[in-house]
Amino acid sequence: MTKPHSGSATGLPNPYPVELSQPDLTPYAKGTDGIPYIWTFDSGKPGPHVAITAIVHGNEPCGALALEWLMTRDTRPVAGKLSFAFMNVAAYETFTPEVPDASRWVDEDFNRLWAESTLDDPDRPMTEELRRAREVRPWLDTVDLLLDIHSMQSKAAALAMAGLLPKGRELARQVGCPPLVINDQGHSEGLRMRDYGGFADPASPRNAMLIECGQHWEAASADVALETAIRFLIATGAVNADFAADWMARQPAPAPMQFFQVSRAVTIETDDFKFAQEWTGLEHLPEGTLIGHDGPTEIRAPHPVTVLIMPSRRLWRTKTAVRLAEPIAG
Ligand SMILES: [Zn+2]
Repeated sequence: MTKPHSGSATGLPNPYPVELSQPDLTPYAKGTDGIPYIWTFDSGKPGPHVAITAIVHGNEPCGALALEWLMTRDTRPVAGKLSFAFMNVAAYETFTPEVPDASRWVDEDFNRLWAESTLDDPDRPMTEELRRAREVRPWLDTVDLLLDIHSMQSKAAALAMAGLLPKGRELARQVGCPPLVINDQGHSEGLRMRDYGGFADPASPRNAMLIECGQHWEAASADVALETAIRFLIATGAVNADFAADWMARQPAPAPMQFFQVSRAVTIETDDFKFAQEWTGLEHLPEGTLIGHDGPTEIRAPHPVTVLIMPSRRLWRTKTAVRLAEPIAG
């Protein structure tokens, strides 16, 4: 486990206003099938097991707000099964407005544990996140179609992270929102939940979509989370096409979709990584533009049009600093 800022968790100075308040998750603690904070409803009819997950990162309340909205409306599937799951609740509950970023995780990043070799490793030191990952894994093994809701450090347009395969892009296209869709190569630090098992197997019908709804505490990110959740439930057939039509009628029409392929995740190799400018993401840079330095090594834009995806502020060795992408035809 890498935790360079031992003791300070993930707390970083936060330049953004905290516009969203976190819902109280106590009413959801019980769950339906013995795993706390996971609720599964069965229509009794054939169909896929569709699931929406929130707070894989404890400092990202927009997904929790979307699930609260859906649960409050008693949303139930018309086919197959439907689950709503709050993942890293232990981290979420450490939230303080003074250091809002510090509740991202308790011991380590929950979203880097999803290689089977990591989950099964008997010698891996036990952490709160590994405990929870092993607890939710039997449920996740039954999920066919997953929407995993996240948000971002910087204020930037919402993104769909379609994972490693074309089938992830297809799912994002069917959902239709957010309009910017990124195929990527994951993180060298460890596998994300959206890339777990069949989700990253081209031969499996299981599929997943991760969304980054905007800045963590920006009010608009909650609307993106809910709109995408509603569209996902309709696209997967879990609910009827007129589901939440009253709320959807108040949303602007989605922008045309654009697709990007990440060619490289820049993994930090030294203790001295610096960006050349204050990037916030989605900058389109000409080839050769200096992006940053990792110690003595220059990072330059490799493509005729190089698009920066989610530059990080956690510039610590082994972390992903930024992903480099280029536009592709959908
Ligand atoms: Zn996240």
